[in-house]
Amino acid sequence: MKGNQTMILIAHSPLHGDRLWRRVGSRDHTTRDGRQITLAEWESDCTICGKPFRATTPGNVSTAEQSKTFQTVTCEAHRMTPANVARLRYAKAADRPAILEAMKRDMIA
Ligand SMILES: [Zn+2]
Repeated sequence: MKGNQTMILIAHSPLHGDRLWRRVGSRDHTTRDGRQITLAEWESDCTICGKPFRATTPGNVSTAEQSKTFQTVTCEAHRMTPANVARLRYAKAADRPAILEAMKRDMIA
């Protein structure tokens, strides 16, 4: 794939709905055993603060199902704790937006 080609993926999260990922580039990476590989760089928006954050996958990934990376929904600063994930998971679907809003207030305050 050419580096300047824009690629968009939709990753479905059971707790956060459809999430958009933009492929923003690629870079060379040397693995621990010395192999040269290409990593794809992706960008998505944090579900807590709304700011874009980046993550990488192997360069040949082209669908959301190919990497667990696309299940990430927050930037580094707003990683969901297991307790918060559980609060969302075990809530009724209708209650989730309000719970997420409360988490946002706690995390951004
Ligand atoms: Zn964030």
